[in-house]
Order: sequence, then structure tokens, then C-alpha cells
Amino acid sequence: MDLNAAQQKVNELRDLLNQYGHEYYVLDKPTVPDAEYDRLMRELMDLEEKFPELKSADSPTVRIGGTVLDMFEKVVHEIPLLSLGNAFNEQDLRDFDRRIRQVVGEDYSYVCELKIDGLAVSLRYENGLFVQGSTRGDGTIGEDITSNLRTIKSLPLRLRENVSIEVRGEAFMPKRSFEALNKVKEERGEEPFANPRNAAAGSLRQLDPKIAATRNLDVFLYGIGDVGESGVVSHSEGLDYLDHLGFKTNKERRKCANVDAVIEFVNSWVERRPNLPYEIDGIVIKVDSLAQQSDLGTTAKSPRWAIAFKFPAEEVVTTLLAIELNVGRTGVVTPTAVLAPVKVAGSTVQRASLHNEDLIREKDIKIGDKVVVKKAGDIIPEVVNVIAEQRTGEEVDFQMPTHCPECESELVRLEGEVALRCINPKCPAQIREGLIHFVSRDAMNIEGLGEKVISQLFSEKLIKDVADIYKLTSEQLLGLERMGEKSVSNLITAIEASKSNSLEKLLFGLGIRHVGAKAAKTLAQVFGTMDKLAEATEDELKSINEIGDKMADSIAAFFTKEEAQELLKELVIAGVNMEYKGPMPISVEQSDSFFAGKTVVLTGKLERLTRGEAKDRIESLGGNVAGSVSKKTDLVIAGEDAGSKLTKAEQLGIEVWDEDKLLEELEK
Ligand code: NAD
Repeated sequence: MDLNAAQQKVNELRDLLNQYGHEYYVLDKPTVPDAEYDRLMRELMDLEEKFPELKSADSPTVRIGGTVLDMFEKVVHEIPLLSLGNAFNEQDLRDFDRRIRQVVGEDYSYVCELKIDGLAVSLRYENGLFVQGSTRGDGTIGEDITSNLRTIKSLPLRLRENVSIEVRGEAFMPKRSFEALNKVKEERGEEPFANPRNAAAGSLRQLDPKIAATRNLDVFLYGIGDVGESGVVSHSEGLDYLDHLGFKTNKERRKCANVDAVIEFVNSWVERRPNLPYEIDGIVIKVDSLAQQSDLGTTAKSPRWAIAFKFPAEEVVTTLLAIELNVGRTGVVTPTAVLAPVKVAGSTVQRASLHNEDLIREKDIKIGDKVVVKKAGDIIPEVVNVIAEQRTGEEVDFQMPTHCPECESELVRLEGEVALRCINPKCPAQIREGLIHFVSRDAMNIEGLGEKVISQLFSEKLIKDVADIYKLTSEQLLGLERMGEKSVSNLITAIEASKSNSLEKLLFGLGIRHVGAKAAKTLAQVFGTMDKLAEATEDELKSINEIGDKMADSIAAFFTKEEAQELLKELVIAGVNMEYKGPMPISVEQSDSFFAGKTVVLTGKLERLTRGEAKDRIESLGGNVAGSVSKKTDLVIAGEDAGSKLTKAEQLGIEVWDEDKLLEELEK
């Protein structure tokens, strides 16, 4: 790139960054994800590095935060509130560490803290009394938001000692308050806040403190402007001193002896992050010794002794290339976005759910649009919104088809549903999806018969219904792509083994509308055999605790269908078990076991029991085994490598046992 071209690009980037910065810092209403802002910022930094003659004092690369609003009194920060340099990967952290070592030598340590995603505030106390609070603003001049900050209950209005001190911290909105606030906003037809950070900033920059008071804000303090006579010589002592004065500090901090320990701490939070009751966007790493901090000094924008590690972005921008339609097991047609491949939350994403046609209209999604894609934790990637400003005019509207993309029968919208459905029971897509469901883990659990193999068998017409699975021969299977002797023999064994599954697996696998895995188990326990269930009247079904009217209707309707009766006959001939084999539930009164009436969650790898065995044994003693930890959980059994469920249990103060303790209690 020559200087002219670079100048042009630099101008473009500065304009965009200034616009996005204004929307974010001043209006509290960002229009692009942070990752997009960060990407543009890095591009600009690289260009300014390559062409130093293009550097400028008002470039967004040297500016901190936004402009200060006139509606508030201005506050001058005697000691500026700086921004932080960023690290996006392990290498960036090691480079940071190398720069530290070059200045301070070998003897140093770090403090790692959670990077709370809120807004920086400065609080001033005189003789122990809270006198003024302000935003960071542009680092040197902030806005006086004292009255709003007073509404934060965890902010001490008087300290435990009569000191005069200026402290810094992050004001934020806990996730629950954020969700509740957005729900109210949506009910009122107002635009929701994009994220808790903007909600917190928007709340603190209200002229009426009564509004801020309703927003349930909170604040963690993490720094002291000037330690003065306090005797504090390190950052970690500073944090302890803040605790001592009565401030709320974040307890998840850790002293790390070297960069390896820092990296381990950072990685541990990538997984634990979703369990926190507030948002964090990274980890802040600071050199502990204040003397070393002062040797390292600061740049115009950020201290050299600290860095912010940013977690992999959970929201990114990419292009929506096409919209694909999938027909599910129940005939629902779902549109899926096909995306230009993009990295989100650490993995590459090419498809995202669009749910239904209404959502596409509501979000005004067109093919060719630049879209924001989100993936957090285990959630399926989704298209959050369109960046309409980046449209070129080439984008095209999407039309939902009137006919099924697989069988061409007319699609219908059932009353009260947003989804379009194909109601042709012979639709090949539905049959194929039904077969995939039949062999899946919670159903017949036939290992080696995945989506791909089923699709092949189905398109080669080797299976047309679930009974055909039991007629497959080794020769037929050997004819499939990528199927060797070994895998065929394993598969035949797995199919054979599935015949002796307990009734509930088969019941769930049949895919009767509304009957989930849990209901299937209840039905199997109550009726014991398929024949007895088939004979049950609707009233008998409805009298069972967990079986609602809709489910009862659909079960009765299933067994009266001739095809269903034929299919069951064929399965019996094939030798598929039709009886319940598991333990009968014991009512709470009957059981004097420790587990009676308790809700237990299993996590991590157990050594001597499989998860299924543990679950069966706990349930047979009157316990209930749940999939996720909540306030209702009584006990968590943690095996090896237990992850987020264990963390959550610890946070909620729930009793945790290891496998030995579990076995001991089960043996009693
Ligand atoms: P920053 O968020 O990268 O880091 C500095 C801030 O971290 C501090 O000011 C402080 O508020 C905060 N912090 C939280 N916990 C801390 C702790 N324990 N110790 C010290 N500081 C802590 O820098 P920034 O200058 O505030 O803002 C840049 C961020 O804003 C980037 O993430 C950027 O993506 C985002 N941004 C987004 C847009 C957009 O349009 N989406 C626009 C502008 C900026």
C-alpha cells in the first residue's frame, strides 16, 4: 500500500471508529459488536505503525473513551483514568510479559482480576464521607454523576476510617437486573439496551437519580488514585485496603508468580465465565508492585504495567450468503442462515438459526446482508441483527416458500403457531429425521448409526421405517461409503443390543408428538408393557400426574393408527423388547433413603458407575436426577474434571460429594 492509499484508508477507519465510539460512549447505543470495533482499531493501529507520518493527536488510537456531555457538571481527574492495552491470545500475553521483564528484571509478580463489563467510575471521599463520583469521560475530564452513584446500595456513603481518598472501580448492571429491565422496556415498546454495559452507562447518565435507583446497579472497586500515607506498597495490598475501608471488591482475584500462572487463570475463566451473575469481557493483568508500576510508567492512553486479556468474541460480523430450509421430524420448516465462515467464541461458524419467517421479517434480514452473529456458551449460533448501514443495495429479500422443499406438498401454518409445517406424513425429510431420532442417544442409542449413515441408508432405500433397521444385513451395510468390515460388525452388534432396551427408550424413539424422554419413562413405569399402554384410555392417561391433555390425546391417537400397529407388530417380530426393565419409582414416604425427595445433579466423569447407573440407583431410592444446577438442587455429585456445574454449585453453596461418598450412601 502506498502513502496515499494508506492515508485514505486511515481516514475511513478514523471516521468509522469515531462514529462507533460516539454511539458507544456518548449515546450508550452501539450499532456494531465490540469485536468489530476492536478489529477496525487494530487495523488502524497497524497502519499508523507502518506509516508513522500519518499519526495524529486526535486519532481514536490515542483517545480514551468519549466526549463529555454538557448536561452534567464536569469533573477534572487529577490523576487521569486511563484505558488498557489489549491481549487477544497467549502470544500477546507472553509479549507483554517480555516487555515487563525487560524493564523490571526477573523479580516481579502479577495480580489477575476479572474485567467487569461496565463503566469506569471515580469516587472521591473526604474525611471518610462520599463527596463526589464521576465517569471516566475522556480520561482527564469526566461527568459528575454523584446523585446517581449514591443510589448504588453497595457503595459506602461513609468509610470505616476517616480518610480522604480517590478510588476507581467499575459500575455495572448484574445480568438479572439487565434482563428484567429489557423485559420491561420491551413491554413498553421501548428499544432494549444492547448489553448490560450500555444499560449501566445509560442508567448512570440519567438526569433523574430516581431512574438510576430503580436499575439495581452495583460497583466493584479495583484501584486507588493516590495511595498517599496508607502504607500500601502493592496492588494486592491496595485491594485489601479497599476491603478494609468497606468497599466492595471482586473476590475472584489471584496473585500469579509468572505468566504461565496468568495464562492458566485466564483459560480457567473462559469456561467459568457464563456462570457469573454479571458480565465480564476479559481478565485484567497488573504488575503487583507499585514501585515497579511506576518504573514501567504509562503511555498517553494506557499503563505499561497492565493489560486486558479479551475473551474470544461472542458476537461478530459476517455476511449472510443464503437462507437454507430444513424440514424437521415434526414437519416444521426452519430457515437457517448460511454464513461466510467466521470465528465466534473460539469456533468457526457457518450456519446460524433463524427460527422462523416472522423473525426474518422482524429483523429485516436480507440475503447478502452484513449480520451480527452470536454464540455464547453452548447456545446454537444465532443471527442477532442486521447492520443496515452497511447495505450496498445488492441485498435481496427472502421469500418463504409455499411448498415443502422436500416433498412439495403445500405448507400450512397451524393455529397459534408461528412455524410453517409440512403435514404430509410421507414427507421423506420427516421420515429421515424420525429415523435419526429413533437411533439417537436418549432413544434407542444405536452407536455407529449417526445422521450420515441413516441419510445414506434412507436415500439408498435400504430403510423406509424404523423396523427396517432391524432387517439390515452386513452385505447391505458393507455397500455404504466409508464402511469397513470392523465398523459393520460393530454396527450389527449395536443394532442387536438395542433390541433389549427398556421400554421407555423405544417409546421415546417412536417420536409420538409431545412425548419427551421423561414422559416416556413415566409411561413405561406406570404401564409396564407396550400392550398395556396401547390399551389405555385417554382418561387413564390423563389421570397420570405428568401427562397433560395434549399428550394424552396424541398418545391415544398414535395407537389407533393402523400404520403404528403394523410397525409395532414388525418390531415384536424383529425381537425388540416391549417391556419396562428399570427400577420402579419409590414414593418419597416409602423410602427412608437419604436420596428420597432430593434433587441430585451428576457432573464430571465417574469411575466405577456410568452416569446412567448412578441415575437409576438414585432414582430407585426416591431421588430425582436433574440435568442442571439451580437453587432447587440439593446435592451435586462431582466426578473427575467436573466443570461449570461444579462451579455453580459452589457459588450457590450446594453440598458436593465425590464418587466414593455417593457409593457409600448407595450401599447403605
Ligand atoms: P477497555 O474496556 O478495553 O479497558 C479499560 C477499562 O476496563 C477500564 O476503564 C475499566 O473501566 C475496565 N475494567 C474492568 N475491570 C477492571 C479491573 N479489574 N481493573 C482495571 N480496569 C478494569 O477500554 P475502554 O477504553 O474502556 O473501551 C474499549 C472497549 O469499548 C473495547 O472493548 C471496545 O470494543 C469497546 N467499544 C465498543 C464500541 C462499539 O461500537 N461496539 C465502540 C467503542 C468502544
